[in-house]
Amino acid sequence: MSSTPDPDCLFCRIVAGDIPAEIVAETEHTVAFRDIFPQADVHVLVVPRVHEPDIGSLAAADPEVTVALLAEARRIAEVEVGGQYRLVFNTGSAAGQTVFHAHAHVLGGEIHVPLPG
Ligand code: AMP
Ligand code: ZN
Repeated sequence: MSSTPDPDCLFCRIVAGDIPAEIVAETEHTVAFRDIFPQADVHVLVVPRVHEPDIGSLAAADPEVTVALLAEARRIAEVEVGGQYRLVFNTGSAAGQTVFHAHAHVLGGEIHVPLPG
């Protein structure tokens, strides 16, 4: 539950450059890369450099980084799909989270997963 990099965490390893990914952009606080199993024409993951297990714990631990992540998701969506996009934060395995390092799914263009409701 700390922000120390976790050697067993896939996204910490991508942030560190130990595992390759198709990097879209890097900032002081975030790294963005393409999802390996895209569910939309554009499917980019934006992750904080710090390790927190989900977006809520990131918000509690580090509001500045959380805002930076949201701003970066918006910027990427503007570049990639003209600013119309869906932002998804799965939280907990019952909700579909599989990687327990906070991340925003930026989905745009044709999206292949149904809207809730
Ligand atoms: P979630 O299920 O919300 O935890 O999202 C994790 C996402 O990470 C999934 O959409 C996976 O397709 C994606 N993913 C898993 N491994 C990799 C990888 N090596 N590079 C890029 N995306 C990945
Ligand atoms: Zn991590």
